[in-house]
Amino acid sequence: MLNGIGVSSSIAIGRVVKFVEDDLHFDELAKNDVASEKQRFSEAVGEFCSKAGALARKMDDTDADGQILRGYAVMINDPYLSEHIEKLLECGKSAEWAVESACDAFIRLFTDSTDELVRHRAADIEDIKRQMLEILLQVDCKELENLPENTILVTDELTPSMMVALPNSGVVGIVAEKGGRTSHAAIIARSLELVTVLGCKGAINRLSDGETVAIDGETGEVFKNGEDGFARLKDKQKNQPKLSEEYYRSFIGKSTVTADGSVRKIVANIDSPRDIKAVINSDAEGIGLFRTEGFFLDRGVLPTEDEQTAAYRSVAEAMNGKEVVIRTLDVGGDKNIPSVQSEDEDNPFLGLRAIRYSIKNQGLFRTQLRAILRASAFGNVSLLIPLVTRVDELLYVKNLLKRLKIELDEEGVPYKKDIKVGVMIETPAAVCIADILAENADFFSIGTNDLIGYTMAVDRGNPKVSYLYSAYEPAVLRSVKRVIEVAKQKGIRCSMCGEAAADEKLLPLLLSFGLDEFSVMPSRVLPLRAKISTVDVSYCDGITAEVLTKTRARAVEGFLSK
Ligand code: PEP
Ligand code: MG
Repeated sequence: MLNGIGVSSSIAIGRVVKFVEDDLHFDELAKNDVASEKQRFSEAVGEFCSKAGALARKMDDTDADGQILRGYAVMINDPYLSEHIEKLLECGKSAEWAVESACDAFIRLFTDSTDELVRHRAADIEDIKRQMLEILLQVDCKELENLPENTILVTDELTPSMMVALPNSGVVGIVAEKGGRTSHAAIIARSLELVTVLGCKGAINRLSDGETVAIDGETGEVFKNGEDGFARLKDKQKNQPKLSEEYYRSFIGKSTVTADGSVRKIVANIDSPRDIKAVINSDAEGIGLFRTEGFFLDRGVLPTEDEQTAAYRSVAEAMNGKEVVIRTLDVGGDKNIPSVQSEDEDNPFLGLRAIRYSIKNQGLFRTQLRAILRASAFGNVSLLIPLVTRVDELLYVKNLLKRLKIELDEEGVPYKKDIKVGVMIETPAAVCIADILAENADFFSIGTNDLIGYTMAVDRGNPKVSYLYSAYEPAVLRSVKRVIEVAKQKGIRCSMCGEAAADEKLLPLLLSFGLDEFSVMPSRVLPLRAKISTVDVSYCDGITAEVLTKTRARAVEGFLSK
């Protein structure tokens, strides 16, 4: 078994095709003709930019991130990089040599950075260098578009240009050795909706071309056929919905209601304003989780209040009155953003992360809260606080909001006066004090991704203990049940925005516990609405009563899989 970081959802089973880049070798002459090499370089830049532009347009059509590719055209024309290349050309170096050594210098500089944001730029320059050399050496790119059906692409690193070809290929899943949850590759993989596991070290050496593997885009597990776990993933895949797109689309415009008339809500999780198109197409009833980390990741300097306001406002306006729950920065743990965090910690999952970090870094937090408040004037915006463990954290945010509202009043800036403040329930502490939190919060959102990890004391990236990372664990289910019950008793809304919200096997339990709102990836909205329309809550109550007698995760999952 291999283990990486699941950055999508669902399961893919297929045959491995390893994609290792060509060796772009060239021989360098002692002296080249300066004018002709300059000419070759400038022609290559022209070809590169037009290819990047064409790919970016294609990505826009598929709803993915063309901005990264447009950024490539900007990068190759960056004055520092092109000056460096010009100087080498003036010395009689070939265009290939100049491109390679100038890019390598930048790659070294960026790779050594302690800043993840800058290290991601190194991967971009590496991609640019490879493409420029392919153009100069007239080497054809590998044909990613013609890969056979059911291919699991295994590669070192996903690049935006590689990702463009994938929607038109037979690729059903991706395993890459590099990349993390907040990398560009993860962002694009999510918008392409391919099952993707990143950061899977050793995949290229340990997997062979042609062998069958099963990969889980949620948990990051990769099993070869015959290994323990392969059958489990196959089973999980079998339970994925297979109904037609047309059938799901028939649920557009309908409310989310069970067969016996219990009305619930399905909203969407997004990572960036670029996901809005998918949300609108999915007919989600709002946005239950707007993760704001990507916004901090994609820039060298922190986003300003105006920039953040514009981004949040664009989402609020696009949702046209439907609720948009914006989560404050959830840095740390699996969301490593070194441009924001300065110190290494021995135990980042238990360290200065999420709301703890925001409270310690008031400047950054004030900027984000002011931006959220300002955007709230343009739609139905609510605020969500990540990783709460004490009521003081919630009260701190509410007090700070009060002060910021006074500031905005003095400046004559409009905002939503009664903006709602919710709490992520994703730690055992929050579960235990759910009653205290509920007295002070407008709503709960259960973050099962972290709640499972913290409840079971499991780092999901550690294959040795991944068998413990399960939403079916009685400890997790009892926590979820308690939180929903407390929310009901206290009269506040309870949502779930972790991956478990989209797990159809858990649906009977969640409906029976009384979960009000399911916040899932846009692609899961309609399938979940369709599924909910077929179930009866009283039937779910029966299933739940039985499940609660089970003492082991395996027994729970086995029963729910029937
Ligand atoms: C969660 O922890 O369940 C959650 C939704 O937040 P994230 O996955 O961003 O940590
Ligand atoms: Mg979380």
